[in-house]
Amino acid sequence: MSRPYKLTGLAGKIIAIDGPAGSGKSTTAKLLALRLGYIYLDTGAMYRSVTLYALRQGIPPDNGDALGDAARKLKITFRNEDDRNLVFLNGEDVSAAIRTPEVTAAVSQVSAHKEVREALVRQQKELGKDGNIVAEGRDTTSVVFPDADLKVYLEASIEERARRRLLDFARLNIPSSLDDQKEELARRDAYDSGREHSPLTRTGDAVVIDTSNLTIEEQVEKIIKLAKARFSGV
Ligand code: C5P
Repeated sequence: MSRPYKLTGLAGKIIAIDGPAGSGKSTTAKLLALRLGYIYLDTGAMYRSVTLYALRQGIPPDNGDALGDAARKLKITFRNEDDRNLVFLNGEDVSAAIRTPEVTAAVSQVSAHKEVREALVRQQKELGKDGNIVAEGRDTTSVVFPDADLKVYLEASIEERARRRLLDFARLNIPSSLDDQKEELARRDAYDSGREHSPLTRTGDAVVIDTSNLTIEEQVEKIIKLAKARFSGV
């Protein structure tokens, strides 16, 4: 499964994937990166890491200056282990801690600050400077990698996205309900799309894929087909 795809013209390319929460970005981007032998960049995990730090340090979510300082200083790194994408904050494995309901509830407010975005976007651009990367988030097609070689916008119905989030929570043993998830997604969608700085946008050059009725495997195959057509003219 993890064998890199044989695809000509693949070296140095950037694939950017955006979409709302629960649209399948993370799982799709992770698997795609594995297949292509690319780096997987989960930009949401970076915003979540800053949020976790802020909650622990008692930095108020409306203090853009202090949050920006934190985002500049924190060392957020990724490591792939047994096909799992681990996230480290100043050397501590925070892969599970950044997915708690507390972090999820606060992350949109923290990530709306210009100071936070500037600090993290700078790091994201640096990680992608040599290409060979699949990045996913809300602004990877518009702000982080506006010149990406392939841009994809994933979307899905709110019912399906809530169902997927409920499964994620069940896997983490966090009790929740479908209605709770729908409410939380609608709240985050509104916040992420309506904010002043780098809102979630569908760029005109992004290929839109509705994942409501697709399996992860089908989503990945669709993007590999697009990459083949775009990179090697097949
Ligand atoms: O993708 P995920 O749900 O982990 O992202 C968590 C939150 O981080 C989003 O709801 C959004 O507020 C923020 N985010 C962002 N820009 C990105 C990625 C995530 O503002 N590129």
